[in-house]
Amino acid sequence: MQKVLVTGAAGFIASHVCRKLLARGDIVTGIDSVNSYYDPLLKEARLALIGKDARQGSWNFVRGDLADGKVVADLFAAHKFDRVIHLAAQAGVRHSITHPHDYVQANIVAFTNMLEACRHAQVPHLTYASTSSVYGASTALPFSENDGVGHPLQFYAATKRANELMAHSYSHLFGLPTTGLRFFTVYGPWGRPDMALFLFTKNMIEGKPIKLFNGGNHTRDFTYVEDIAEGVIRASDAVAAPDPSWNPAKADIATSNAPYRVYNIGNSTPVPLLAYIEAIEDALGVKAIKEYLPLQPGDVPDTCADVSRLEAATGYRPTTPVKTGVQAFVDWYRDYYRV
Ligand code: NAD
Repeated sequence: MQKVLVTGAAGFIASHVCRKLLARGDIVTGIDSVNSYYDPLLKEARLALIGKDARQGSWNFVRGDLADGKVVADLFAAHKFDRVIHLAAQAGVRHSITHPHDYVQANIVAFTNMLEACRHAQVPHLTYASTSSVYGASTALPFSENDGVGHPLQFYAATKRANELMAHSYSHLFGLPTTGLRFFTVYGPWGRPDMALFLFTKNMIEGKPIKLFNGGNHTRDFTYVEDIAEGVIRASDAVAAPDPSWNPAKADIATSNAPYRVYNIGNSTPVPLLAYIEAIEDALGVKAIKEYLPLQPGDVPDTCADVSRLEAATGYRPTTPVKTGVQAFVDWYRDYYRV
């Protein structure tokens, strides 16, 4: 039984993580500002579900902004956490092109507050969300952790890459064990309204066209949210003891005895966007009206994760095929919105 802090608990991925931790009996504290980047009622509904599901473990929720240093300090003064899973962030690749300051607050200032709090509280392990977007337009598929990540294409990815570097400095300076997880396009029930699956499903039900950038020629390593939640918890459980002989200048970034690790967490099965849409059409019984548009600035055409390192370290193995996962999303969407 672990005492776990999960940030961004009202968010898509974190709400699944919280429910999984509670199902195994952990003592879970969630924090979220419940901001209005997208429908706060959806976030409230996720929180209500966590509360309802929290039969086995113990659940406690704090509403607060992690960019406020006092909020974070008070949280860590009130609890002694065995693990911290930091999933709160300003997400969204396109939004970052027009709203960069939101990303500085949520992804840089808040992350600094988390690092400081974990350092001073001597938290045994901080696991945090990074993104496949740090790879930029790398042409070599699948992406592996030691591939170049020097040139993110969007500001969002730049802040996430900054998180990895900031975590590295804290692991190096203070021996804080950190694990960054580079998520690859997560989808599933309770998904985000700004992401393709939600937007496509909504428009298809309403008989509106769906926008396909790059002429629909993207491939994505779509990863089902339950597989992700399982992987996040496995990674968080696999605490790396600080290694006194750790030499960050020489070390391989994903070696298991280092206090600093970064792993890909994806499905390792790239799916063409058009096949993804076919899965939505089958699940809905509705044909999409497709509007083809050019590649957008900052868009990465193809993604695919090499997950062999995470699998070797934790046994992570995604199991949900896209057809099954899309059907689960559509079933949830119809039920939640009564359409
Ligand atoms: P989400 O937007 O649903 O969840 C993030 C949550 O963090 C939201 O509920 C928001 O209210 C909260 N939050 C934001 N700023 C905060 C602050 N300053 N203080 C407290 N709470 C704050 O996003 P998600 O899809 O669940 O993503 C979770 C994490 O995974 C994020 O770090 C995101 O960048 C990363 N990620 C997600 C995907 C994906 O496909 N969903 C892909 C790559 C990376």
